[in-house]
Parts: sequence; C-alpha cells; structure tokens
Amino acid sequence: MTARILDGNALSAQVRGQLAERAAALKARGVTPCLAVILVGEDPASAVYVRNKVAGCEKVGMRSIKDVYPINAAQETVLARITELNADPAVHGILVQLPLPKHFDAEAVLEAIAPEKDVDGFHADNVGALMQGTPRFIPCTPYGVMKMLESEKVALKGAEAVIVGRSNIVGKPMSMLLLQAGCTVTVCHSQTRDLAFHTRRADVLVAAVGRPKMITGDMIKPGATVIDVGINRQQSGPDAGKLCGDVDFETAKEVAGLITPVPGGVGPMTITMLLTNTLEAAERARGKS
Ligand code: NDP
Repeated sequence: MTARILDGNALSAQVRGQLAERAAALKARGVTPCLAVILVGEDPASAVYVRNKVAGCEKVGMRSIKDVYPINAAQETVLARITELNADPAVHGILVQLPLPKHFDAEAVLEAIAPEKDVDGFHADNVGALMQGTPRFIPCTPYGVMKMLESEKVALKGAEAVIVGRSNIVGKPMSMLLLQAGCTVTVCHSQTRDLAFHTRRADVLVAAVGRPKMITGDMIKPGATVIDVGINRQQSGPDAGKLCGDVDFETAKEVAGLITPVPGGVGPMTITMLLTNTLEAAERARGKS
C-alpha cells in the first residue's frame, strides 16, 4: 500500500487565497491588517523564517513591520518596543521570533505582548484559553495540522492520537486540540519507555521531535494518518544538507494511509496560520471599533 500525500503547499495556497479576499474586504472598510515581527540577533534560520513571514503578509495584501535588533540588544529596549506596538491601533499582530539570545527572559518578553495581539498564541492568557476550549489564538503549527486533518476529513472522534514531542509550541497545544476534537490522546517524549508500542496504536500520529527519520514504517499502524512536523537538515549520506522530517518517509509511506511530506507538508501551513491569526486579530479589532 502506498499512502496518499497530504500536500501542504496546495492547501496553503488555497487558504491564502481566501485570506487575500478577507484582507481586501477589510481594506475596503479602511483597515489594513498588520503584523509586527521582532528579530533579535542574526541566527540564519530565524532570519529566513522572518523573511518568509514578511513575504507571506505582502502576498495576501497585509502590511508588516520588521524590527531587527543586534544580538547584544538589551531586553528593556525590546520590551519598550513591544509596549509601543501594543498601543498602536494600526498593528494587529505582534510576534517575537524565537529563540531569543541567552541573556533574555523569553517568558517575560512573550508575556509583554498584549494577549489580543499575540498571534503566536504563546501568552499565558492564550495558553489558558486554549486549554479551556475557548481559544483566542491557536499556536500556528498545531493550527495548521488541524486544518490539514480537516481538509482531508480525517475521522477524529474516538480516534487514537499519538503525539511524539511535548514542547509548548507544538506537542502540548497539539494534544489539547486533538483532545477537543474527540481523540483519545497519548503524548510521548524522551522518557517514554517503549515509543513504538504507542506509535503502533495511533490512528493519527503526529511527530514533533527534531530527530531525522526516527519514526520508521515498522512503528506505524497500517492505514494511519501520519503528520510530520519535524524539520531537520540531514548531516550525512547522499542527501546531506537536504531537509527531512522526523518520519522516515520512504518506509512510512508504504504503511500509512495518509502522510505529510517534508518539505511541503506542515511547514507552509504554519506561516499560513500565522497570517490567519493576524487577519482574525484585525477583524476583531475592526469589529470593536
Ligand atoms: P523541542 O526540542 O522543543 O521538543 C522536542 C520534543 O521531542 C521534546 O518534548 C522531547 O522530549 C521529545 N523527544 C526528544 N527525543 C525524543 C525521543 N528519542 N523519543 C521521544 N521523544 C523525544 O522541539 P519543537 O517542538 O520546537 O520542534 C520539534 C520539531 O518540529 C523540530 O524538528 C522543529 O524544527 C520542527 N518544527 C517545525 C515547525 C513547522 O512549521 N513545520 C514549527 C515548529 C517546529 P522531552 O520533553 O522529554 O525533552
């Protein structure tokens, strides 16, 4: 059996088309949705992510502001800028690119963002709202995964969902969303005793670990939906330097029913959902004014 491929680029293009229409409708009412992105330091991967986020805004007719600070910038400088952006009615979403330099207290910086502009959904208020089942902003990567599952009408009620990884930005919010969708959820992590025992039970398997190709075909239930969040650069072999996921695509696709590729799977959906959150923030702000 060869799995169907869940194409994140195609779904992303479709969702972005809808976003462009909504952004145009807002503009016609005098509001241009605007995302402010703050980058501290010169981490090359972060610089690429920020560039893609800014370009994503432009393509759907949204405005963006990009503030870049040197790696030795003081936390107070960044906090002062966040205060300014919080107060600016023309700014609807604020995002601080992670990771921050070591001398920053990342939690304090994220907590400084006004919850109604926290389009990454990392502020404690928004984390709490998600846990209570009344989310204001859903963190972008798990939000993208849910959109992908929805687009394929994957049956979630009563399904066994297994998530490998328990980070605050992917694994934990993913578990909340699948739980709310009616799955029975298992969350695995580095101390899980027998990982394959759990993954083999999964109707829906989400890998968010950061270890190249660690989930192999023999760890997957026949016909399962496999969502690969991992983005890793291969260190050796014929494909050295190329990107791969946490799932060994070649063996997994022979067992799974539906699978996301890397690249071209969850990655494009993450930025699309950031744009969605920003647009929703702008629509809410317009509704209030
Ligand atoms: P983190 O490093 O924050 O979390 C990794 C998780 O994997 C941890 O919970 C860790 O467990 C768990 N883990 C590590 N080793 C094992 C193991 N051997 N068996 C089981 N679990 C293990 O990573 P992120 O959640 O931030 O990211 C995960 C991956 O997703 C990365 O490749 C990242 O690049 C990618 N990513 C992709 C995005 C996209 O848009 N597609 C967006 C965000 C991330 P423990 O908690 O016990 O340490």
